[in-house]
Amino acid sequence: MKFTYCPDCGTKLIQKEIGDEGLMPYCENCKKPLFDMFSTCIIALVVNEYGEAALLRQGYISHQYYNLVSGYMKPGETAEYTAAREVEEEIGVPVERLRFVGTYWFGKKDMLMIGFIAEAKKRELKLSGEVDAAEWVDASRAIDMVHPGGSVSYALLEYYLKEQESIRQKGSSL
Ligand SMILES: [Zn+2]
Repeated sequence: MKFTYCPDCGTKLIQKEIGDEGLMPYCENCKKPLFDMFSTCIIALVVNEYGEAALLRQGYISHQYYNLVSGYMKPGETAEYTAAREVEEEIGVPVERLRFVGTYWFGKKDMLMIGFIAEAKKRELKLSGEVDAAEWVDASRAIDMVHPGGSVSYALLEYYLKEQESIRQKGSSL
């Protein structure tokens, strides 16, 4: 999102040279530049001790594909906190261990997505109102149930499966 008016005082912004940034939208009244804004979300692949992933059905995101847990960060939260909070809120599972995987730019929604693997103990899923259905699915099968076209869900499952494969290979070479 690009600013045309100052969100604090409503003054129309001018273009001003700001250091290395070059020309930036600038409020002459508040004396500050206004960087383009985007939202930041977490996305978490929740996996249990049996190598199963929590897949969610959320009609407002997709009717065709399953999703992973995701949610917007709130001001003051760290990404780790948001991830654990969203997992607990959406499927009622406490996160035992959270691992950062990477960040992904989702251009369609001007959104930065911060990807995690959230390890949890297998338990019955307790769904929030935002989730239509959810189930534990073996990760090797789950990867065919999420959006395939370069989605973050797909990337996280691919990352997890490769990781599990290399653990298995190390195990069998001992
Ligand atoms: Zn202003």
